[in-house]
Amino acid sequence: MNAADAAGAADAAGAAGAPGSAPPARGLPSHLTLLYRGPLASCDYDCPYCPFAKRRDRPETLRADRAALERFTDWVADREREHPGTRISVLFTPWGEGLVRSWYRTAMVRLSRLPHVERVAIQTNLSGRVEWLAGCDLDTAALWTTYHPGEVTHERFLAKARRLVELGVRFSVGVVGEPDHLEAARRMRAALPEGVYLWVNAAEGRAYTDAEAAAWQGLDPHFHYSRHPHASRGLPCRTGDSVLSVDGDGNVRRCHFVDAPLGNLYDGSFLRRIGPRACPLASCDCHIGYVHLESLDLYDVFRGGVVERVPAEFGRPPFGLLPA
Ligand code: SF4
Ligand code: SF4
Repeated sequence: MNAADAAGAADAAGAAGAPGSAPPARGLPSHLTLLYRGPLASCDYDCPYCPFAKRRDRPETLRADRAALERFTDWVADREREHPGTRISVLFTPWGEGLVRSWYRTAMVRLSRLPHVERVAIQTNLSGRVEWLAGCDLDTAALWTTYHPGEVTHERFLAKARRLVELGVRFSVGVVGEPDHLEAARRMRAALPEGVYLWVNAAEGRAYTDAEAAAWQGLDPHFHYSRHPHASRGLPCRTGDSVLSVDGDGNVRRCHFVDAPLGNLYDGSFLRRIGPRACPLASCDCHIGYVHLESLDLYDVFRGGVVERVPAEFGRPPFGLLPA
């Protein structure tokens, strides 16, 4: 969370409604997107721009993370019976790396096979094996991958990406727009099939000159959305209504950046608080947040791929010929 978000989070308590005045429970929307983040915060990489680099989780944290993820997965599975008519998309956004843990792979496989789950995706550094994806329904499972040039060689990351293409997995590849990543990003863009989208996130706190921005825009045709934070206070945002953030205890918030609680997933109390409401924060600078701002056109830009960050023009595998 940036400083503006932290300052605005206090406003959010009011936006969520005063205790005791909660309206009657609503049903779920026809399509619900859940952004799930459990207690896991360990990662096998050591990116200098990440507060979770090389962190180790204690065994009890890993056990708690596994139990929490399994509970969440059960809840999603049970919606087929308890909320028929609601389709669900899930994006796992762990603080660290989830796919090196068996329970995230198991959850991806299970959720992908449920008829009422439209999409299940996870943010990953792609350090782990990928063969398990063959067990997923690949019309539903997808990956949001990030290439960290300081942590993995070009060849090793590209080999994983090529294997995803061979398996028919839908995925995006991202790079953090640090100046010393530019050549590596260009090389990766040239090596990936044209049909694989490479996105660029503006580096935290970095102001880009027009020339610098043009260089990144040449790699990611949608970089201009990331270059500057989006002023968001008072604007309609789908979070809190058809998009919800869920933590390992089932606490529901509208998004990962607004701290005000909306209730709990598992006791159903969140159903009394969800509904359309404006963003309470000054700005939104993270793609997993502002993609849901109704004032932007990103649901059109990413139609069919909002969760895994694949724009409409990049579509499904086969992605075209693999460069030699
Ligand atoms: S791969 Fe992601 S979670 Fe791991 S250290 Fe790098 S930025 Fe952090
Ligand atoms: S624009 Fe939406 S996602 Fe971003 S901080 Fe505001 S409410 Fe959250």
